[in-house]
Formats: sequence, C-alpha cells, structure tokens
Amino acid sequence: MTVSPAYTDPMLEMANYQLDKAAQHLGLDEGMSQWLRTPERVLKVAVPIKMDDGTMRVYDGYRVQHSTALGPAKGGIRYHPNVTMDEVTALASLMTWKCSVAGLPFGGGKGGISVDARSLSTGELEALTRRYAYMILPIVGSKQDVPAPDVDTDGQVMAWFNDTLTMLRREADPAVVTGKPLGLYGSLGRARSTSRGMAHCTIFAAERMGFDVAGATVAVQGFGKVGSHYADIMAHDHSATIVAVSDVSGAYYAPDGMDVADVLEYARTNGGILTGYDQAQDNVQLISNEELLELDVDILAPAAIEGQITGRNAGSVKATLIVEGANGPTTVEGHEILVDRGVMVIPDILANAGGVTVSYFEWVQGLQFFQWTLEEVESRLLTVMRKAFDQVWNVAHEEDIPMREAAFLVAVDRVAESMLTRGLFP
Ligand code: NAD
Repeated sequence: MTVSPAYTDPMLEMANYQLDKAAQHLGLDEGMSQWLRTPERVLKVAVPIKMDDGTMRVYDGYRVQHSTALGPAKGGIRYHPNVTMDEVTALASLMTWKCSVAGLPFGGGKGGISVDARSLSTGELEALTRRYAYMILPIVGSKQDVPAPDVDTDGQVMAWFNDTLTMLRREADPAVVTGKPLGLYGSLGRARSTSRGMAHCTIFAAERMGFDVAGATVAVQGFGKVGSHYADIMAHDHSATIVAVSDVSGAYYAPDGMDVADVLEYARTNGGILTGYDQAQDNVQLISNEELLELDVDILAPAAIEGQITGRNAGSVKATLIVEGANGPTTVEGHEILVDRGVMVIPDILANAGGVTVSYFEWVQGLQFFQWTLEEVESRLLTVMRKAFDQVWNVAHEEDIPMREAAFLVAVDRVAESMLTRGLFP
C-alpha cells in the first residue's frame, strides 16, 4: 500500500490517508496514486493594497487547482489569518473528492488570502479583492476555475471579483464565480443549500438505520451559515429536537429541546453570536464545545471548524449518527476510533456537498443567463444528494467498509477513470 508522507495539515492528512486506501482498493499503481495526490497547479501571489491611513500593506494570496480531471476547478476563496498554502491545498483536494462524489462536472480548487478581513474597512476589502482577482486572473475562468465564497468572504466579495474580471476581459461572464448576490446572477436556494443537503443525508441515513428523525435529539456544533440553517431545517421541516447548539462563545444545552427560531432571532439581534443565551432562557445551560460533542444524543452535527473529533474525545462521543457539516471535523485518529465503535458517520465530502451542488446549479444558470425557480433548485438538489448518498451507502455495504472510505472510493474511482480514459497529454 502507498503511504503518503506526513502532512502538516490534518485535513490533508485525512484526504491523503483515504486516497491511499481507495487507490489500494482500486488496484491503482504508485504513479497513479501520486498523480491523484499532487495538486495540478499552485499559484502564490502578492496582494499589495493602500490602506485608508495611506500606508501600504502586502498580503499573501493563493489559488490551488488540485484537479481538473472532471471539469473546471471549483472551490471557495477564504480570507483568514491562518490561511497557508498547506491549508488551501488540503481544501482544494477535498473539493476534488466532494465534486466527484456528488457527480458534478467539476474538479477541485481553493484560494485564499492570509488576512484578518474583519480588521479591514469596506474600501480596503474591495481593493484587496480586486487586486487578488487581477493576480489570479490568468488561471480563473468559467471553463477553467470557478471560485466561490468561503470563510470571511461573501456575496459582496464575489460581486467585486466578478466585476473585476468583467472589466478586464470586457465581457459579461456570470459563471466565473458562484455565491453571487441574487441580483447579480446568484442562485435561489444557495444560502441554505449546504444545510439542506446535510438534512437530506440525515434523513437518508436515519431511514436506513431504522430510526425516525421526528423527535430524535440533535446537537449542532457551530451556529454560522451551515449550523444555524441545519438546526432550523431539522427542527422545522423534520420535527427533530435540537438539544444543543454552539459557537465560539460556548455551547447552549436544553435537555428537553430548544426553540430554534428563538435562538436564530437571538443571534440575529446579538451580532450573530450566542453569548448570554443561557441567561436569556430558563431551560438553557451553558456548557463547553467539548461537552457538546460528548452529549448523549441521536445525531451530532459538527458544523464549525476542522479537527474537533480526535483521538482524545472520539471514544466519548455518544451520538449514533454523525453528519459532518464542517470540512475536516474528524481527524484520522478520531475516524479510526469511531469506526471501531461502529458509529455511523456521514463524511464531509458527502454530507456538506449540497453547497457545491447548488453552486454548480448557479454556474449552469450563469452559463445560460437564465434563472431557475427555488422549487427547481431544491428538487434537483434532492435528486443529486439522493443519488450520491445511495451510491456511497451501497458501496459501503457491498465492500463492508465505513461510509467515509466508501465516499472516497466512489470519488477516487471517478477521477482516476477520467484521467486514465483521457490519457496523458502530450
Ligand atoms: P461560519 O463562519 O458562518 O460559521 C462558523 C460557526 O462556527 C460560527 O458559529 C462560529 O462562531 C463557530 N465556531 C468557530 N470556531 C469555533 C470553535 N472553536 N468552537 C465552536 N464553534 C466555533 O462558517 P460556515 O460557512 O457555517 O462553515 C462552517 C464549516 O462548514 C466550515 O468548516 C466550512 O468550511 C464548512 N462548509 C461550509 C459551506 C458553506 O456553504 N458555507 C459548505 C461546505 C462546507
């Protein structure tokens, strides 16, 4: 079996660990494994901007295309001080496997700038975005590499990005980025798509595991774009009982269930943060994020950040079903312990693929200059998620392997087949 070198990024470690297992399972040779593992194109750029006080600052920017075997690279742009080439490479590789498992005609890409975006003024943020767009312009395009929002980037950032490319190329191309505002060729249904896809996976898994999500207890780590909508959809559309939610301020636990609409309203009026929610409601107590992960619940949805379920705490997780909303919430050691304990885990590359699926729909709508209805978007999302889930579930059962391994097996097989069929250029 091919053993990948040790990686500094735990997400890359997991992706390559699973890739190696899949390559071995598929009988791919060492050269092929190496080709699958190695990012196709890595670009590092300097992003200089003039600050409001007249000084000059230079930020490091990156864009990585891990694979374009199945289509244009697809993946977000992250603005965060922790952004490094390793992290961007890890996230680009996860995008390759996610797009593949969902059956989308995309490869995997990711980009980012090492910056604390929250410390910048709106003008500085716009200048940063436009200069970064200009610097990565040679490798970006609706048929080459299609960015999207990620941590601390949003529809406005995508609008500036899109406008910069439109000005430079002198042509309207709404398919060059996704996650755009609705008035600028964005897609209906994008905002809740990742959470909606997670909810579909939860229902599919529960059906096969033989329990009803109505009344099932759910703990959600992270109350941002993914976690808050997931809690809302699970409570209101599927009558699940949300017993805990959390964010950077801590975890909020109500053993008999909480009113998610009230939590959403509290977050909305409190700058998006749940600080003090335990004092606002009698039935809610403050616990730690670590304690939330170990609650005795039916369903656990880690939807905050990477590296939460590890060798240290995986033995104490009591949920019977884990639906990974975040990218890379489980480390390799955590994964092995959960597998040994028979915990059902719907892995990130499948569970949170609803977001990139609706990004794909946005791309198709952009290419056609035509907007779909919300019903069309949601019904097509359900079709894509059901097909992907069923395929992974069936492979897991036929091969007697965990869902994460099955998801990688499906994903790697599809990418490898495309590479082998296309052959090596020149
Ligand atoms: P977000 O920034 O909107 O929300 C993140 C949430 O996690 C916030 O509530 C934040 O307070 C909380 N958080 C941050 N650090 C924490 C910590 N140490 N402990 C507990 N909570 C913490 O981000 P998001 O878009 O909701 O993304 C969440 C995860 O889902 C990320 O891993 C992201 O890569 C992944 N993801 C997002 C999308 C999407 O469509 N937004 C799609 C696929 C995957």
